[in-house]
Amino acid sequence: MNKSSYTFFPFLVFLLLFKFLVAENVVIVIIDGARYSETFGDVNHTFIPVMDSLSQFGTTLDQFYNDSLTYTSRAVPALWCGAWTGVRDTIYNDGSTQYTLKPSLFEYFRKQTTSPPQNAYYILEYVSSLWLPSFHNDYGPDYWPTFISTGSMDIDVLGQALQVINNDHPQLLLVYLADVDHGGHSGNWNTYTQAIATADSIVGVLWRTIQQDTVYANNTTLLVTNDHGRHDDSHGGFNGHGDGCNGCRHIMFLALGPQIESNLATSIYRRTPDMAVTAAHILQVTPEFSTGDVINEIFSPVAIEPDTEIGIPERFHIYPNYPNPFNPSTTIEIDVYLQSHIRLTIVDINGKDVVTLMDTIQNSGRLNITWNGKDKMGNLVSAGIYLYQIQSDKVVKTQKMILIK
Ligand SMILES: [Zn+2]
Ligand SMILES: [Zn+2]
Repeated sequence: MNKSSYTFFPFLVFLLLFKFLVAENVVIVIIDGARYSETFGDVNHTFIPVMDSLSQFGTTLDQFYNDSLTYTSRAVPALWCGAWTGVRDTIYNDGSTQYTLKPSLFEYFRKQTTSPPQNAYYILEYVSSLWLPSFHNDYGPDYWPTFISTGSMDIDVLGQALQVINNDHPQLLLVYLADVDHGGHSGNWNTYTQAIATADSIVGVLWRTIQQDTVYANNTTLLVTNDHGRHDDSHGGFNGHGDGCNGCRHIMFLALGPQIESNLATSIYRRTPDMAVTAAHILQVTPEFSTGDVINEIFSPVAIEPDTEIGIPERFHIYPNYPNPFNPSTTIEIDVYLQSHIRLTIVDINGKDVVTLMDTIQNSGRLNITWNGKDKMGNLVSAGIYLYQIQSDKVVKTQKMILIK
């Protein structure tokens, strides 16, 4: 270890402690009734270009399923509660509605963290009577989220969400988008797929907002999923849903955030109740009546260890860039173990090369490379997420960083 390693080490320890001690924020987006074949199941990602490019900074599950009832009135409560839950009819504020028998993520979160109402929001378009979380003896209305139900389109819901983020920065925010399901039921393919494209860009706006927000940046996880899919073409097609066909069951799951593994698509079978249990894990609360599991495979290993690629000699080790998020510049440290050709490239969110910072043979030793936020033409790039890619022989390592305004 040389001198700079010693000065770097306490910073790493600080980073790791920080990661363990501070519960993160969680933003959940439920896109109602998007069939997997129109989201990540479409190899061209025709209707979800934004989520497709965001997925390289996060993890997608390609075997995530609604494993029970494929209609909204039961699947959304299962997403809230981390369990399939019975619901009961009631009259609330003069309207007939239903409430869940099991407590919801909101209730676990607000009670266990003693959070005020403005720390948990549920935002959706206008509905005449809301489906309610539980009246459970240990939880119940004292711990419900703040509901905002206004507007008639997903874009209105986005507007409300941005306002809530700006005003209150809730630690738990659920954004429910209904238009895709409405579009599907209309039977009009264009209406349906347009609604998916709109939901896709809403997810993009939310993620950009999170990463440019001083409170949320780099400590907020975004989870995007569906309550159910739609019939596959051999079971009635996209305009309906509600049975056990694969089209109704297979749904998307995208996770983005500082603890989430980059550029990972996993094929481990997971199911509806696992979403809230995973969100509870990130929020560091215990969903005691849930039945789901934490989706552990989406989390990146916390320890920073040397690379051990099987069969490939270890040529370099890359450290997290510092500072991060940054403005105007950040430094990337690389330990070169064997004399190697090292290429270091900055890539933008669309996978486009921004600038190549190094492309030469390096002797063993430590490299400190600073990026000043400029592209190859010398122009300052816009704020956002960037990747830095180090390549030596066949080994490529990619890490993300965030340039703030
Ligand atoms: Zn529906
Ligand atoms: Zn079906």
